[in-house]
Amino acid sequence: MLDDTASRNDDALVSALAWAVAEGQLALRYQPKFDLFRRRITGVEALVRWPRSSGAEILPAVFIPIAEAAGLIQPLGAWVLRQACQQAAAWNRMGLDLSVAVNVSPLQLAPGAGLEALVAQTLAESGLHRSKLELEITEGVLMEATARAAVNRLMDDGIAIALDDFGTGYSSLAYLRQLRAKSLKIDKSFLDGLPASLDDCILVGSMIRLAHGFGMEVVAEGVESPEQQEVLELMGCDIIQGYTLSRPITADEVPRLVKSCR
Ligand code: C2E
Ligand code: MG
Ligand code: MG
Repeated sequence: MLDDTASRNDDALVSALAWAVAEGQLALRYQPKFDLFRRRITGVEALVRWPRSSGAEILPAVFIPIAEAAGLIQPLGAWVLRQACQQAAAWNRMGLDLSVAVNVSPLQLAPGAGLEALVAQTLAESGLHRSKLELEITEGVLMEATARAAVNRLMDDGIAIALDDFGTGYSSLAYLRQLRAKSLKIDKSFLDGLPASLDDCILVGSMIRLAHGFGMEVVAEGVESPEQQEVLELMGCDIIQGYTLSRPITADEVPRLVKSCR
């Protein structure tokens, strides 16, 4: 009986999500990334939201797994990519030198999922220069040879790849050697203990040196305090992203923030 109710609720949720995706009812927020050397915001990460009629917004941790299980992640991912590229192209036309990062589900890199063709088509349609697009993948994706090959082809086409949530998933350091992504994003869970925890300082400092050794730039994500920022700067971290700079904001709010940080 309980199961029945749960599955009826799930069906209703999946139908509502399918409708929201088909009708373009999802929304994007953009979280700025601050370059600690250039002392300016050089890019933003697009983060999807599901606004409900109640005024509440459902977070991606809730509905991305539902979209993945229900076969909705391809249209959802295509919508996010299109919106983000169009928005970034508009910012660049306004004279804001910004790149946009888009999160990619492992299912979008499955055999035959067609991410490369989608990226090429979306860049052509939006007019965004390929150097201004970055795709964020999680390290677990690299365990699949076909996904690795697709990621390598995207990089050959000039698309920057960031390894998201680095250090939290199943992966092998050997993939770092093989892949040479543009950037490595250190997960918030390693930064929470900074600067007090010696263990976390050792881990984060080592990750930064490892990434730099492979010629990758390092993004620290989930930086919430000036003290964390200070120790990351001392450790040579390249870019920070987190509430200390800005929460994810609407597209309209981005230009003012970018200008105020120059
Ligand atoms: P992520 O890509 O690692 O994104 C970072 C998450 O950390 C975001 O949560 C962001 O709002 C949050 N965050 C950033 N700075 C801080 C901070 O200082 N403190 C705290 N407590 N949190 C911070 P969000 O937007 O809820 O997204 C969660 C995850 O959902 C993302 O993690 C990403 O894996 C996934 N996601 C978001 N948008 C998309 C999308 O368009 N497609 C796919 N496939 N996944 C997405
Ligand atoms: Mg991300
Ligand atoms: Mg992350």
